Amino acid sequence: MNLHASSTIKEIRQKYNLQLSKSLGQNFITDGNVIDSIIEGAGIGPDDLVIEIGPGIGVLTAAAAETAAKVIAIEIDSRLIPILEETLAEYDNIEVINRDILKTDLNEIVEEQVRAGAFAGAVRIIGNLPYYITTPIIMQIFESGVKADSVTVMMQKEVAERIEAGPGSRTYGAISACVQYYCDVEMIAKVPKEVFVPRPKVDSAVLNFKIRKEKPAQLKDEKVFFACIKAGFGKRRKTLLNSLSGVCGLDKSAVGEILGEAGIDPSRRAETLGIEEFAAIANLVAERSTAGDTTHE
Ligand code: SAM
Repeated sequence: MNLHASSTIKEIRQKYNLQLSKSLGQNFITDGNVIDSIIEGAGIGPDDLVIEIGPGIGVLTAAAAETAAKVIAIEIDSRLIPILEETLAEYDNIEVINRDILKTDLNEIVEEQVRAGAFAGAVRIIGNLPYYITTPIIMQIFESGVKADSVTVMMQKEVAERIEAGPGSRTYGAISACVQYYCDVEMIAKVPKEVFVPRPKVDSAVLNFKIRKEKPAQLKDEKVFFACIKAGFGKRRKTLLNSLSGVCGLDKSAVGEILGEAGIDPSRRAETLGIEEFAAIANLVAERSTAGDTTHE
């Protein structure tokens, strides 16, 4: 069975009387080249564990299972579970979990698979993401600290461009800075909306995230670093002096001193700062807010 053929998707929809859910972002891939670009981009080897987010009817799942040692696919829609049982019946190295990815502990899944001796290679996360929760999913993956070697996922093209953007670009924002702290980002494919069923309103792109073994900056407190990025971009048209005022309870004069100490012009805006500069600010903010905490003890 050619799973990704439009005719197969049509047959499955008729057989199971399946109305695809817009609110769950159910736009299925119908192009073998897109599947190949995700699978090849992920660099899946025969010893690897693949975790797939949102398998749908299993087109990527089956392709990953051809190469990987084990595939765990996490799907929220219980109506798709019997369908996946049918479409993936020939594979004995796939486990489908009916769960919300945002309520799934990825570390626990990996640890379980390690304990079971299910794989001896890398951990690779793949998916054609449900677009309504792209950013929460990506942040959850990185914040969880899951020991994944790569993350290769498709998303709305505009979101991919924002994540990939660097300082000085119009699209550089909090999500770009946060993600680029954790990994190197590469756009590996642009995908037109015509290759999905049903056809979404927007084009898509596949990003490959290579998780950094060494972070680009030493942080005193990751939470403070993210708070500074959020504050800076929260008021992106304001100068750093204004946008960072109030971060971690620090007033404007403290922020001015910190920017001076970090050698950063207070009239600059967040969109011009690289990761190292955010880190320098955040480390000074962390020092001051900890010092503040101690005086209250
Ligand atoms: N992988 C399939 C493909 O490419 O044809 C389907 C991709 S479709 C864009 C997104 C999939 O994610 C759907 O199957 C949808 O039901 C599932 N999904 C949506 N929200 C989810 C969530 N919170 N947790 C897990 N899966 C979810």
